[in-house]
Amino acid sequence: MLHREPPLRMKYLDEYRDAAKARQFADALQRVTTRPWRIMEICGGQTHAIVKFGIDELLPSGITLIHGPGCPVCVTPLELIDKAIEIASRPEVIFCSFGDMLRVPGSHQDLLSVKASGGDVRMVYSPLDAVKLARENPARQVVFFAVGFETTAPANAMAVFQARQQGLTNFSLLVSHVLVPPAMEAILSSPTNQVQGFLAAGHVCTVMGCAEYEPLARKYRVPIVVTGFEPLDILQGIYLCVAQLETGRAEVENPYARAVRPEGNRLAQQLMKEVFRVIPRKWRGIGEIPQSGFALSEAYRDFDAEQRFGVAGYTAEESPDCLSGLVLQGLKKPHECSAFGTKCTPEHPLGATMVSSEGACAAYYRYRRRTPVEAQRKRE
Ligand code: SF4
Repeated sequence: MLHREPPLRMKYLDEYRDAAKARQFADALQRVTTRPWRIMEICGGQTHAIVKFGIDELLPSGITLIHGPGCPVCVTPLELIDKAIEIASRPEVIFCSFGDMLRVPGSHQDLLSVKASGGDVRMVYSPLDAVKLARENPARQVVFFAVGFETTAPANAMAVFQARQQGLTNFSLLVSHVLVPPAMEAILSSPTNQVQGFLAAGHVCTVMGCAEYEPLARKYRVPIVVTGFEPLDILQGIYLCVAQLETGRAEVENPYARAVRPEGNRLAQQLMKEVFRVIPRKWRGIGEIPQSGFALSEAYRDFDAEQRFGVAGYTAEESPDCLSGLVLQGLKKPHECSAFGTKCTPEHPLGATMVSSEGACAAYYRYRRRTPVEAQRKRE
């Protein structure tokens, strides 16, 4: 059996991609695995690493990895994209977003099409860039598309905090923030749930800490292992998860201690608490999950782009061809969708999971994963 700590006390990034050490983890997994287990990696970044490095092909045949809903672009509801497009089309607006939201299809077009038609849509690298734009363009309305999980929420909170401190009345946020633990609870409480253990998203825990996972582990008797993003991080997370399952334990473990403290980042948590309030949020392809997202708090409601531009009441219907809801819940793999690689490609995506750099469909397409992992194992 592998010791838990020493293999991952390393200095350089490429050490976390060491093939010999990966093989040791795979061998150790073979030794501890006595029956089939289904483990969900929450984060789309982990999904990409798994497919890119072929981690699932290294595992014992009984272990199935289920790709989770942790891709912020993928779970942003269609109507939010439509709202963004409506706001970005207005002549007085400079609409700012991270790059991967620009190509996500709304009901009829995407933000890049708005830009091509003359809309002032700008890709920024930080929400604070949008605050700077608001300061430099007092005659324009600057809107930032605040999308993401607990990882991006602190920077977005800081942007609106600074905008208020600077007295900017031409800055607002279009908020679509979602939270990981309520989504895990929705998966675990579903009658179709297949997940027996979780790899929690390490960067989310860097902000939020580990404590909020304890009640889930106890209530649903699931191991939850805080996991990083390099191949050895992921193999270690799977190994510890399987070790718990095999011995009947259901605990929160944090082998990603180089980035995650148990209490998380308290300053970031305080700022989020001041700027945001927790509300029910709709997840694209999944539906509404109670207490699963952020909206601006009462103190910051003047910075709410939905209110400022009167787009709060939008609704939209998903394409019937797209199974991304089932993919996001781990009930289907991307290659099981009949549109995968034919009607739906990264150049012409039908659903957000094919657009986003963290989407499962994009990962399967990019790394040429067109067949089930079981078939790939048989060929080796
Ligand atoms: S391949 Fe395209 S259509 Fe199919 S689930 Fe993925 S995003 Fe949707």
